[in-house]
Amino acid sequence: MNPRWKLLCALTSLLGLLAYCPSSSSQARPLPGKDVNTIYDRLLPQIEKIPIVDMHAHPGYWDDSDVDAMAVTTTELDPARSRPTNAEWAAAAKALYGYPYSDLSPEHARWLDEKDDELRKQWGKEYWSKILDKEGIQVSVANRVAMDYLEDNPRFRFVFFVDPFMFPFDNQKLAISPDRAVYFPIQEKALHRYLQQAGVSQLPADFAGYEAAMHRKLELDKQHGAVAIKFEAPYFRSLVNITDPPREQAEGIYNKYHAGGVPTADEYRIFQDYIFRSLIAQAGPLHLEVHIHSAVGSGNYYHLSEGNAMDLENILRDPRYKDTIFVMIHGGFPYTEQSIWLAALPNVYLDTSEFNLLVYPAQYSRILKEWFEIFPEKIVFGSDCFPYSREIAVPETYWLAVQTARTAAAAALAEMISEGEITEARALEIARGYLHDNTARLFGIELLSAKH
Ligand SMILES: [Zn+2]
Repeated sequence: MNPRWKLLCALTSLLGLLAYCPSSSSQARPLPGKDVNTIYDRLLPQIEKIPIVDMHAHPGYWDDSDVDAMAVTTTELDPARSRPTNAEWAAAAKALYGYPYSDLSPEHARWLDEKDDELRKQWGKEYWSKILDKEGIQVSVANRVAMDYLEDNPRFRFVFFVDPFMFPFDNQKLAISPDRAVYFPIQEKALHRYLQQAGVSQLPADFAGYEAAMHRKLELDKQHGAVAIKFEAPYFRSLVNITDPPREQAEGIYNKYHAGGVPTADEYRIFQDYIFRSLIAQAGPLHLEVHIHSAVGSGNYYHLSEGNAMDLENILRDPRYKDTIFVMIHGGFPYTEQSIWLAALPNVYLDTSEFNLLVYPAQYSRILKEWFEIFPEKIVFGSDCFPYSREIAVPETYWLAVQTARTAAAAALAEMISEGEITEARALEIARGYLHDNTARLFGIELLSAKH
């Protein structure tokens, strides 16, 4: 208690008045009290009951290549938590399927493979809804190349990759690393698929035709229930200094190379910058959100310095896009101290996926706490579930992400209560916002806060 309050309370009790003596000060303290563990134990069961709306995920069977428009290339040194040796993967399998072992050694993992095969047969079309039920997820984004077997499932919302539109020319000069040599053929294949979807069998003869095909693809996916376009651009090019070239310049480059020839680095970059902005400009009026990978990435050749969310400030603060919702996918990790300030913009949100599997709950909770203390209504849950292998597949990655988020959020909020920053009621409101309402509001799903 604040010393002045102490003195006042002592005086009032001496005088026999005891008029007003609050049980805790309203002034925040820099350290949690001894009650922090008790508060955590009280919050966690309530937070565990909150149904989740997942802003970023790649649901799909372990053998499905449509979960991404790139491929996971070799990373020679994975962060410790994401390695197959982490015992939490076996804990996930135990919680989901009653897996009887505590590691994923090949002879034990066979049990899990057979179980998954059996459930795929037994559950058939219900497989994905049943998995979401087990995870405590009400609705999940499906960030995929195409929805395929998830198409008619109302529990998923489609988010599609748009980077392929930036790379319609000869890409041989862009394949500057072994990773990019793997990515570009996949991008080219996806572009071909998108053009066909838009009713075009090859690159249109003029730039207006190309832009119309892009727009058609966005319109069609929107009609089929898509909620956002997704850029995973830093896997293919830098986010640093995205310029604002005039249309004529992009058109000139298209006319020069659409039928063949290799653009110079400058020409290709200018063209990509134009398309990047053009896709954002088209998405807004269609009420499609814009999701941008802006964080650390996988692979030995990914440049962390080219995927920094802060380099998108010129895009986010461009008044032409003020009515477009942007979600910084993976929240700018590891530059989370800076990226939170981007969420000051009313149309910018931070997603907490990816680093939930890279760091342990204690560190994750420190990041959440910092964010909850600044712009709590702009933070959204994301699992980034992905089929990394047959055993570390979508159900297991969903599970670990959900457990990490629920426990870390409870810890962050318990500290905030104990430090006198917020009340318990407000803490639960923040938790409901983070796990459900902040995304539900964007997707038009009924809010939990409406029920409280
Ligand atoms: Zn992802």
